[in-house]
Amino acid sequence: MSRRSRRLVRSYLALIQRDGLSAALMGPTVGGQGAADRVRAILESTDDYVADPLSGLSTLQDVLDLRVGEVEAAARSLDLRFDPRHVVTALYPLGDVNAWSVPANGGDLILVSRGALGLAFLTLKINLMSTPLFGEPAMLARDQTVTALADVFAAHFRHGDPWRAPRLPSLTGHREIMLDLLVNAAARFMVGHEYAHVIGQHPHVDKATLKSKDSAVEVYTRLWDDEFAADRVGAQLVLADQRLAAAAEQDPHFVRRHGLAAVAAATGPMYLVLLDLVLHELDGDLKVTGYPPASTAHPHPGKRWDALWPVIEQEYGQATTAQPPLELPGSLMRWFENLFTDLVPAVRERLA
Ligand SMILES: [Zn+2]
Repeated sequence: MSRRSRRLVRSYLALIQRDGLSAALMGPTVGGQGAADRVRAILESTDDYVADPLSGLSTLQDVLDLRVGEVEAAARSLDLRFDPRHVVTALYPLGDVNAWSVPANGGDLILVSRGALGLAFLTLKINLMSTPLFGEPAMLARDQTVTALADVFAAHFRHGDPWRAPRLPSLTGHREIMLDLLVNAAARFMVGHEYAHVIGQHPHVDKATLKSKDSAVEVYTRLWDDEFAADRVGAQLVLADQRLAAAAEQDPHFVRRHGLAAVAAATGPMYLVLLDLVLHELDGDLKVTGYPPASTAHPHPGKRWDALWPVIEQEYGQATTAQPPLELPGSLMRWFENLFTDLVPAVRERLA
């Protein structure tokens, strides 16, 4: 690990310490010593132990580390240049589905919202439960779907933690596989968008303060043209990852899964933008106290959707093997539209 990335990790640890988030972000204390302190001790000892300083500290950070590795491999496959020693990607409670860069000494500190990963996972899970799929009937009726979604959004708005919603049953079979594929693609897009800023060396035009339940963090804001470019490159990174994964797959029985994986890769980026849109609309109707203002510094998610969709369609259409038609992003959009009039009062009731 370079001295610069050491400084980056220190910036992250200082942020965690400032907001008292060690337990939430770094897992429980180990051996009577907080995880953040443990990382600091490791950082200060020897180079041998700091190759991957954030891994092993919390399960969610481990998951994020996997996605970061995939985005970096995809970037290399597209010949995009970056120095991984100058980028550290870590969890933070930002109260926003977008990831952000934070002004930090020595490189780019990318903060991924802890709640965003949960929101993507839980809302997609509810969607997969609410529709007949792969020859199996729906697991949730419409009113149960509204209830489950309202619980998740209310937990996100109230606590910054959608996982506080009542637990949903586990999925099995193709539903479970599809959920993994979709959530992972969405998370790759979250990370890939920020890597695109780093790779493109997009200038910082300003700083904004992003407030959440637990913290107030200063983040970089950029030109809107650069935001659209980052969406484009972020999506290309997700689809490049899918091509790498498909090429590496040896099992002939996974042919069907390749089709699903291709759909999921193309849908994940669109879904994240859609989720941002749904949060904007909900917050617009509910005016949630303490929730970050809708337009912090990314373009309106409706505009992002319109700009990103042709890119996704084009990338998806370039496949050399047969793929199912790309209907899922549109059907997810219609799913939310159809539920929205009932969802708003259900969330309001829970926030009262
Ligand atoms: Zn951005």
